[in-house]
Amino acid sequence: MAQKRAPSGQFKNPQKQVNIIQVQLDLRHSTGNFWIDNGLVYLVNELGQGTYPVDNILALVQERLLQKTGNVGQYFDEVTGELKNYDKVTWVYPTGFFIKVVDAPPKKKVNGKEYPLSPPHPRLEFLFSKTKKQCNICGAQASATDAKMWMFPFIVAPDKFGSFYSRGKRGINLCPRCAVAGTAGYLTWLWVAQGRTALHFFLFHSDLAEISRLQKEVIQPLALSGSRGGNIVLPFYGPYLHETTMALLLKLFAHVQSSDQIPEEGRMLLASLLGADETLPPAPLTLYAITGNPGQAFNMQLFREFSRLHALYRLYQDWLEVVPAENPQQTLINVFRQFQVREGNQYNTLWREKISWAVLEFDDPLPSVEAFLFEARAKEKNLPPLFQGTEAVLSYYAKEVLHVDENLLKVLKGFGYTLGTEAQKSNEMGLLYALRNAKNLEEFLRVLNDIQFRLEITVPERLVEIGQGERIAGSPWLRVKTLLSIYAMNSYLRAARGSRTEEGGNVYEQPATE
Ligand SMILES: [Zn+2]
Repeated sequence: MAQKRAPSGQFKNPQKQVNIIQVQLDLRHSTGNFWIDNGLVYLVNELGQGTYPVDNILALVQERLLQKTGNVGQYFDEVTGELKNYDKVTWVYPTGFFIKVVDAPPKKKVNGKEYPLSPPHPRLEFLFSKTKKQCNICGAQASATDAKMWMFPFIVAPDKFGSFYSRGKRGINLCPRCAVAGTAGYLTWLWVAQGRTALHFFLFHSDLAEISRLQKEVIQPLALSGSRGGNIVLPFYGPYLHETTMALLLKLFAHVQSSDQIPEEGRMLLASLLGADETLPPAPLTLYAITGNPGQAFNMQLFREFSRLHALYRLYQDWLEVVPAENPQQTLINVFRQFQVREGNQYNTLWREKISWAVLEFDDPLPSVEAFLFEARAKEKNLPPLFQGTEAVLSYYAKEVLHVDENLLKVLKGFGYTLGTEAQKSNEMGLLYALRNAKNLEEFLRVLNDIQFRLEITVPERLVEIGQGERIAGSPWLRVKTLLSIYAMNSYLRAARGSRTEEGGNVYEQPATE
């Protein structure tokens, strides 16, 4: 394909080959692989389109991937016979989990202590085959190198990702262009660390021209450097992939509306990629999210691809309209952030992960919201209700995504309010647990009957009109039960809060997990 090769006769000694393999950088030849394509675009953005010796490109990438540690070491200069200082360098965090290349120059004992004879400076080097092979990424016939982790991080666990890169078990051949682009991939990701428990990486993929603009106008203005917590600041995060992805998207979506970080062109680009304006998006946009545990190396736990970003953005826009008008963006963030519980000096964010997973997959988050209310909130000492705006967000989602009848939702919300408030007055939280624990339709109806009798309130007829397939107004009875217990328990908690006048009016908020 793109690359021109030097005659193979030039590589007589493969250990010390004079490598003049040329690589063509352009935005026309997508490999379809998000990692390699991002690296390729990075190189085009840095160097401009054209043909370059592969080793020159690699040298540039290497210098960007190395950083001074701030420590000074000593080496023995044999020419002058003196000890000299040098700045120690290391691979930029967190690429050191993938790039394990070190430099160990020969050493000499001076005054009883060993010193290297030159400053150690790790060097990345390609070793390309003399014969042409097919590149496993782009399909080109070219002299190839066996992919190492530092060129392509996702060969670390071929058992887990064998289906993604099916040749992983037998090694992967990379042509010079893919190899050097792969090495540049590290310079393009957004990443966030959850202490020492998890590392999250995010990469966007589209056609090359759009990634090029996305990197220049959106990713680079957003990305910070020199932090060990990440190169992007998220409103919340945790050890799991979906909760952190949700935070990233909420942040990114907010920049479409207004931004003090992204220039106007970047906002316009983001808007068109997310389908925010009426015009057809220029190319589909996909988000890749990778989560793993950092240890000696990176242990990949989960790898997900999110391709319905348009639909998520539309949902986000609509949510902004239904939550209380004052600072809707912050309200949405608080709504999602709240599904965590402090346990000792940490936060358990499993509910938030499950809820975020469901929303990102357009699945049902309600059972996890219900579990959070009954297993976490109702057991806290001060009985905090859900953040203001949560019910609006959930109701809208139930109507639009889960197709719950709008009138049914109104009935559930109204009755849930009465039920929760009356149960709180009569100190009958047990009734709400009985409702929540109803295992089948009969039990659900029995609990409703019980409620009617014990709290002397009338159950709306709508809720006991059972249709085919145990459905109520077209929704499965279980979903109706779940929605009712959410509204009821939240009203109970709100009523409990209202009765404690000293706290009345406080808006419940908890800081993000740190
Ligand atoms: Zn290739």
